[in-house]
Amino acid sequence: MQYPVNEIFETVQGEGHFTGYPVIFIRLQGCDVGCSWCDTKQTWTVDPDQEVTQQTVNGACNDKSHWASFTAQQFITMIQNNGFVARHIVISGGEPCQYDLIELTTELELAGYFCQIETSGTSEVKATKNTWVTVSPKIQMKGQLPVLKSALVRANEIKHVVAMEKHLDELDALLVDVDISEKVMCLQPISQQQRATELAIKTCISRNWKLSVQMHKYIFID
Ligand code: SF4
Repeated sequence: MQYPVNEIFETVQGEGHFTGYPVIFIRLQGCDVGCSWCDTKQTWTVDPDQEVTQQTVNGACNDKSHWASFTAQQFITMIQNNGFVARHIVISGGEPCQYDLIELTTELELAGYFCQIETSGTSEVKATKNTWVTVSPKIQMKGQLPVLKSALVRANEIKHVVAMEKHLDELDALLVDVDISEKVMCLQPISQQQRATELAIKTCISRNWKLSVQMHKYIFID
């Protein structure tokens, strides 16, 4: 199977449960969700005219809308040749679950890596059972894709972006039939806004949930 890759780089995880861990970040191209505040709009379209070489996407690519086609083995060869030392791979996007990730996550695990997927929950999650799935539910976005219950049930971690009470109500409605007792639950204030941060802190304390701040935006890394 071929995967369209927008960029590959080593960094530290900036959000959620694994914040601060060294990771290899693979951003897949393609997303139909349409969040108005998306900060990676360059990943939305897999434009045939934007196909580039694998070496072009090797490294942080600064908002380019290009992509290169990789098999799982080609990806492993690249990260080994790069000398990356992290053993944790974050598969993000775009919306990575628009693709069947079973082959990719299987090969990465066989090569000794731990896989994490970051998804909006709007596509079925196809990955190995050991893959850590972080669902950040994107509710009623422009693409009109519903958040799937199957994705929420599969999630190891649910990380919700909040600006106001309404966003908590939307999350609660989504989770009405989902057992969250074994999941890591994170609230993330939108865009470092003070009101959103206060709401997230207050709610995390009252629910015994975890606060996720976008650490990379405070330490100025990708
Ligand atoms: S799901 Fe992610 S990549 Fe897609 S539009 Fe929303 S924020 Fe952007």
